[in-house]
Amino acid sequence: MKILVLNSGSSSLKYQLFDMRNGQVLAKGTCERIGAGGTVTHKRPGESDFHEEKELKNHEAALELVLDLLVSEKHGVIRSVSEIEAVGHRVVHGGEKIRKSTLLTEDIIRYMEANIPLNPLHGPAALAGVKACLDLMPDVPQVAVFDTAFYGDIEDFRYIYPIPYEYYENDGIRRYGFHGTSHRYVSGRLAEVLGKPLESLKIITCHLGNGSSITAVSGGKAIDTSMGFTPQEGIMMGTRCGSIDPTIVPFIMRKYGLTPDEIEDVLNKKSGLLGVSGLSNDCRNVWQAAREGNYRAGLAIKILINGIKRHIGAYCAEMNGLDALVFTAGIGENQVDIRELVCKDMGYLGIEIDENKNRNFERGKPFDITGKNSRVKVWIIPTDEEYMIAKDTLELAEKN
Ligand code: ADP
Repeated sequence: MKILVLNSGSSSLKYQLFDMRNGQVLAKGTCERIGAGGTVTHKRPGESDFHEEKELKNHEAALELVLDLLVSEKHGVIRSVSEIEAVGHRVVHGGEKIRKSTLLTEDIIRYMEANIPLNPLHGPAALAGVKACLDLMPDVPQVAVFDTAFYGDIEDFRYIYPIPYEYYENDGIRRYGFHGTSHRYVSGRLAEVLGKPLESLKIITCHLGNGSSITAVSGGKAIDTSMGFTPQEGIMMGTRCGSIDPTIVPFIMRKYGLTPDEIEDVLNKKSGLLGVSGLSNDCRNVWQAAREGNYRAGLAIKILINGIKRHIGAYCAEMNGLDALVFTAGIGENQVDIRELVCKDMGYLGIEIDENKNRNFERGKPFDITGKNSRVKVWIIPTDEEYMIAKDTLELAEKN
């Protein structure tokens, strides 16, 4: 079965076409600047990339271009659009009700529309992608895979914030958790490579990218996670502050006369590694500057490492143990020094890495960096959210 996976952003559309007989990616790419010009980059394994500037009025125009490319004589990988048997959509927010991937019905679409206030940035984009598909491929089953769904089993005392309960009841203010598709994929993949049932393991998955989150997975279920009502909570990120004393917000707003949108911009786009270092949101650049002796860059790295350690410690306590620690995403998969610093002085928790394996790891595949005396397994597992979406889509489309 061939499955198209779509990830719609406010002005972008990312796509991957999978052949699920063997899990191969036949083609993938990105449309950008939708609604304000337009470009597409289309990639096929073993071929040179195709790049074009083309007016893309909206998501439907972008999807039309993608489908044209997929069947085109020169750049295509299928003969006809009818070969695409199902479409999987990445949807960030499933709200309170949706706890698993689901076939898109009118009811689900209405629910996604009603959910937009909780997800003003991604919600309208995801819906635009879904609607474009319904227009252009009305007879093809469509599946929505929600980033929040993995957290459907988190218990109330871990998702309710200690503020007046009415804000939860009336406004849905609670921990939702994000990056769930990535945490679900890497925890499942870890169980596969360890050759153990996922249900038997206590795992902490560290998704460290430009956006970062840490999840505790016990018995195959996420039991706690660092991101909360929005992807802002938890550890410090590229440009997001993560958890801070909430009273800092009204303090800065009053003192500098900032509006809610302005303070949100500060906390979302000007904080984190960028805000502390004053240099960059890219961990590579901040690390380099820190090594060259830049105090604020060094400080930013220390805050990052401490935040990660703090969550690992908390989740060991919450799970009463730990079998495996997983690193994934841009920083987790690539940054040797960050992994080394996180695992340094963690012997009390039974975590130790083999520095040589960590330095000489192989990119792009699960890699064991566990130290000789470590009680806890430590692995690098490259994330693959698109594959996870394709897998869920296949399962639901086959049942349909
Ligand atoms: P996003 O959250 O936007 O998906 P990524 O997962 O791509 O972000 O992570 C971006 C971060 O990963 C950056 O801070 C960057 O420094 C780091 N990173 C990405 N690729 C590499 C690499 N090859 N080597 C070192 N660091 C990398």
